[in-house]
Amino acid sequence: MNTVWILDVIDKISQIGMTLNGITRHAFSQSDMQARAYLKKLIDDIGLEYREDTFGNMFALYKPAGAVGQVIGTGSHIDTVPNGGKYDGVLGVVSSLASIKTIKEKNIPICHPLELIVFQAEESSSFGHATMGSKIMAGKLDNFVQWEQSVDNNGITLVEAMKKAGYNFYDIHKSVVEKDKYKAFVELHIDQSEKMKYENKPVAVVDGIAAPLRVKVIIHGEAAHSGSTAMRYRKDALVIASELVLAVRNLSLAYDERNAIATVGKLDIFPSAMNVVPGTAIMYIDIRGINSKTIDEFFGLIRAESSKIALRYKVSCEIELMSSEKPCMLNNYVSDIIEKSCHELNIPYMHTISGAGHDTMNMAEITECGMIFVKNDSGVSHHQNEEILKEDIEQGASLLYQTLKTLAK
Ligand SMILES: [Zn+2]
Repeated sequence: MNTVWILDVIDKISQIGMTLNGITRHAFSQSDMQARAYLKKLIDDIGLEYREDTFGNMFALYKPAGAVGQVIGTGSHIDTVPNGGKYDGVLGVVSSLASIKTIKEKNIPICHPLELIVFQAEESSSFGHATMGSKIMAGKLDNFVQWEQSVDNNGITLVEAMKKAGYNFYDIHKSVVEKDKYKAFVELHIDQSEKMKYENKPVAVVDGIAAPLRVKVIIHGEAAHSGSTAMRYRKDALVIASELVLAVRNLSLAYDERNAIATVGKLDIFPSAMNVVPGTAIMYIDIRGINSKTIDEFFGLIRAESSKIALRYKVSCEIELMSSEKPCMLNNYVSDIIEKSCHELNIPYMHTISGAGHDTMNMAEITECGMIFVKNDSGVSHHQNEEILKEDIEQGASLLYQTLKTLAK
């Protein structure tokens, strides 16, 4: 694999949208259009068949004579969060393109066409909705009305932003992909945690992508005077909520091995005054995991714990399920091929899960998917300090190349 080429292309893309504090390249913005034009030129130079769909997902097809089967897709995204790093998404796009380029240059015989996919609008930071490009491809258009109404920080609607970039929002349904088009899809991505850095493994096979289950808990205590109410008579909603926060933490620690985790990220108390014992507490719990059964079991324990605590304090407590998304398991033959390729290339690897969402989640609705993570040397992502070692890029890209070769055989 030509790592020098990969690094050079990543570098050039990172210059587009560069600010003092990182890279800002929102979907359909001017910098996004510039980066896309640069990529399109590369694709043309390599001699791949270029096309775009109505939402602006980009495709580069390599279909030599003899490659007549279902398509093997590979890719990621190039849009960023505000002040993002240079590898999130871009590493996957460039590694995918480099892999196809090498297979073409070496004239490696393949039976399945290979296609680079550059998903549009993966990040939710501009219009509040994530992985839109892949959702459209997978036919997940349930949020059409919310998308139509979504507005960015400058008050520009998605519909207007798309129009300015030359796309018609009302045509997006035309980009739904036929169900049997792809045989498989593989995405390579930078690890967005510090896990691989601690384990010191250059690559990881991703076993699943976690999805959130969101719960709202309302604790009905009793507001009272902070000076004249004796401790033994109090039903302090915040104290009760605090017990539940610790219980959620302890359950998370117990579920660590089973890849489920929960966070109380928001807690409101009422009336929220210095001289009043809190009467009501509303807390929001985000539970994530890669296995629906484990998440449900975890939620059941949180529910039981809430009731127990409420009973002990003689208060009532309401538990409301706000939303529940389906996690994406990646235990299939694609993951097996990734793992086998690690052995073939003698690359040390680990298994991991992704706490963050990716386009792969949606592609998994239409084909078998696999994901490769590459070690993040800084341990941070969605940040300008995001960093990867050159040798890790080399290993990651070689692994993707080997995987695609096997899949397309
Ligand atoms: Zn990403």
